[in-house]
Amino acid sequence: LVVLEDVDKHFGTLHVLQSIDLTIHRGEVVVVIGPSGSGKSTLCRAINRLETIDSGTITIDGKPLPAEGKELAALRADVGMVFQSFNLFAHKTVLGNVTLGQVKVRKTDRKKAEERARSLLERVGVANQADKYPAQLSGGQQQRVAIARALAMEPKVMLFDEPTSALDPEMINEVLEVMQQLARDGMTMVVVTHEMGFARSAANRVVFMADGRIVESATPDEFFGNPRSERAKDFLSKIL
Ligand code: ATP
Ligand code: MG
Repeated sequence: LVVLEDVDKHFGTLHVLQSIDLTIHRGEVVVVIGPSGSGKSTLCRAINRLETIDSGTITIDGKPLPAEGKELAALRADVGMVFQSFNLFAHKTVLGNVTLGQVKVRKTDRKKAEERARSLLERVGVANQADKYPAQLSGGQQQRVAIARALAMEPKVMLFDEPTSALDPEMINEVLEVMQQLARDGMTMVVVTHEMGFARSAANRVVFMADGRIVESATPDEFFGNPRSERAKDFLSKIL
C-alpha cells in the first residue's frame, strides 16, 4: 500500500533519512522505534508530504505522492496523521473538528458528515463531549477526538507520531485501547511510540531506526526476543 524506495533526505548537512526502503502492506501495523533524532518523525512526515524528500520514491497504491493542490489535500486525507500534540482546531467544537474535513475536502454533505462524526466519536468513547471545545477536554479525550477526525476522512493508512507521549499516565491506556481496536479492525497503521507493550501486542512488524537508517525490521517476537544489532540491544537495554 505504501512503498518507500531508496529515500534520502538531508536537513543541511544532517543526513536524516538514509536509503530508506520500507513497504507497508494493507492491514499491517508497523511500529517504528529508535533513539531521539533517528528520523522517525521525519519518516512519518515524508509519507504525507509534510516534508519533501531529496531522492528516492514514495508511492501509495502505486501512485507517487502529489506535490500540491487538490491532490495534496486528498493525500493528507488518505494518510491520516495523529501527532504528539493534539492539533485540534481550538475554535471549533469537537463535532465541528470531526465534521470540517469531510465537508471541505471530501465534499460530504453536512448532515451525513455530522452523522459519521457522531458515530466515530462514539467509537472512540467521547460521544458525550461532542458540543464542547477542545480546551474543555482532557488530553486523552482530545487525542481520541484527533483520531476520530483523521478516521472521518476514511484514510487508507493512519500515521501516529508518539500519540501518547504528551499524556498523563492515566490517559495513555485509553488512547492505546482505541489504537488497538483500530488495529484489530484492520486499519493499516504506522505507529512511532515508546510504548513497548503496544508494540508487542499490536504490531505485525517492528522497525528500528538509528541515525536515519532502518537498522532492523522484524516481528515483535524476533525483535524483542533476539535483537540482532548492537544498536537495538543497547536501545532496548535502556528502555525495558
Ligand atoms: P524524537 O524521538 O526525538 O522525536 P525523531 O526520531 O522523531 O526523534 P526527527 O524529528 O525525525 O527524529 O529528527 C531527526 C533529525 O533531524 C534530528 O537531529 C532533528 O534535530 C533534525 N530535524 C528535524 N526536523 C528538522 C528541521 N525542520 N530542520 C532541521 N533539522 C531538523
Ligand atoms: Mg519524533
